[in-house]
Amino acid sequence: MDKLTNFDLVLFGATGDLAMRKLLPGLYQAHAAGLLHPEGRILGVSRSAFDRAAFVEKVEKDSKIHIKQNLDGQTWTSFVARIDYLSLDVTRAQDFAALAEKVKARPQTDNVVVYLSTAPKFFAAACRSLAEVGLNGENVRLVLEKPLGTDLASNRAINRDVAQYFQENRIYRIDHYLGKESLQNLLPLRFANPFFEPVWHRDCIRSVQITIAEELGVEERGEFYDATGALRDMVQNHMMQMLCFVAMERPKSLSADDVRDEKLKVVQALRIMDQAEVGRKVVRGQYTAAAGKKGYIEEPRVAADSQTETYVAIEAAVDNPRWSGVPFYLRTGKRMAAKTAEIVVNFKADSDGLFGKTPARIAISLQPQEEIRVKLWVKETGSGLNAVPAEMVLNLADSLPGRRADAYELLLCEVIAGRLNLFNRRDELEAAWAWVMPILDNWAASDVLPHGYPAGSWGPEAARALLAANGDAWAEEQE
Ligand code: NAP
Repeated sequence: MDKLTNFDLVLFGATGDLAMRKLLPGLYQAHAAGLLHPEGRILGVSRSAFDRAAFVEKVEKDSKIHIKQNLDGQTWTSFVARIDYLSLDVTRAQDFAALAEKVKARPQTDNVVVYLSTAPKFFAAACRSLAEVGLNGENVRLVLEKPLGTDLASNRAINRDVAQYFQENRIYRIDHYLGKESLQNLLPLRFANPFFEPVWHRDCIRSVQITIAEELGVEERGEFYDATGALRDMVQNHMMQMLCFVAMERPKSLSADDVRDEKLKVVQALRIMDQAEVGRKVVRGQYTAAAGKKGYIEEPRVAADSQTETYVAIEAAVDNPRWSGVPFYLRTGKRMAAKTAEIVVNFKADSDGLFGKTPARIAISLQPQEEIRVKLWVKETGSGLNAVPAEMVLNLADSLPGRRADAYELLLCEVIAGRLNLFNRRDELEAAWAWVMPILDNWAASDVLPHGYPAGSWGPEAARALLAANGDAWAEEQE
């Protein structure tokens, strides 16, 4: 194991939902596993006028319940000993002097991690005030929680504001999908095994499907979701990461920038759609009441005439020599038939049709199971040479020893260690937004309503037709 780094983690938004549900439990797990330097400190920061004891009480009440494993009294007590608290209003520059004083009182710290788990409207003010008190130096890393804007212009504005005070190589932009082991696993899978790379291109691959489906509806998040929609919530961030890992070229090395350079090239190779193409290649949907479930517009805090998409399917094209002509079908939705996040790579059929069957495919599943499933054609038992499908399954959790950390735990440990690999660079995010913008613009200008799809189904009929037009079918409908 690498030498542990002493750290001061300054957690803005420390009383918030994300801190309580994900960040503090993630830090606890890292602590319990011995992955944090013994002197590392967590300084919670938010507006609430708590003292340390009151904040610790809140953590006991609101965060501990989210710790599902490795919880014991002694470990908890030693974890809590790391925690301190400071009441500070991000919009009041004068409040930052006390923060600087607290941080600088510990000169032995190797690095300061400032995690902005607050709304992005606070990022500029926070960065300016941090700089004013000298908390933007060489030893300070800045973590930006998503969402990083709602369109290209707002994303650029955030990046520009933050860049005034922090160098790019000190900025850690969160996309928690990058903390998923099964996504990272695509790199060794593709580039360390000699039998993948020779077939991983347009000559052998017919199409790639990327799905993130949720069974849940919008639950209590109607207000947030109605202003956001599936495209912003999932596509330009999480699905883009899945696409990058499946489509990128072999990086020169595993350094953060070599890997991020290759991801950027994939996003830049995505064909930007004109308005007519958006009409043909993008399907937006909204769930309707079915099977005892409410329709989207009946959900709490959703406008009765909302046109927000709860589903989107896109036929994307990656214009480069490896992928030219191979459709990348992306889809995501709420209230779908199953909860799943997976990539399915469909191979081309045997050119001479010796066995006359649909071709093999590989499914790389991130959830509900972290597994790789390879569909192969094998000889049917008995006489003759009839081929039947069989599946080879590698369950990563069962096959590999060791605890599988939650994405946020892993990402927090990476920031503390100063490894940028699992964080997005500015140019990649801006390129992703540039690709998404024609779709958003088209919808904003259109009076065409989203396609309805029954709650609990696989999405609108139009999404099936999108693939059928190319002679393709979504994974659950394939043989
Ligand atoms: P939240 O529950 O509303 O908490 C907001 C936090 O920001 C609180 O700690 C609040 O402190 C603090 N805050 C607000 N105004 C402040 C100010 N002027 N000065 C200092 N602190 C201030 O929000 P959240 O759900 O934790 O989300 C935080 C960010 O992460 C948001 O941008 C959200 O979209 C994003 N995010 C959240 C989730 C999630 O699962 N919750 C997932 C991904 C991304 P006080 O309570 O003391 O006022």
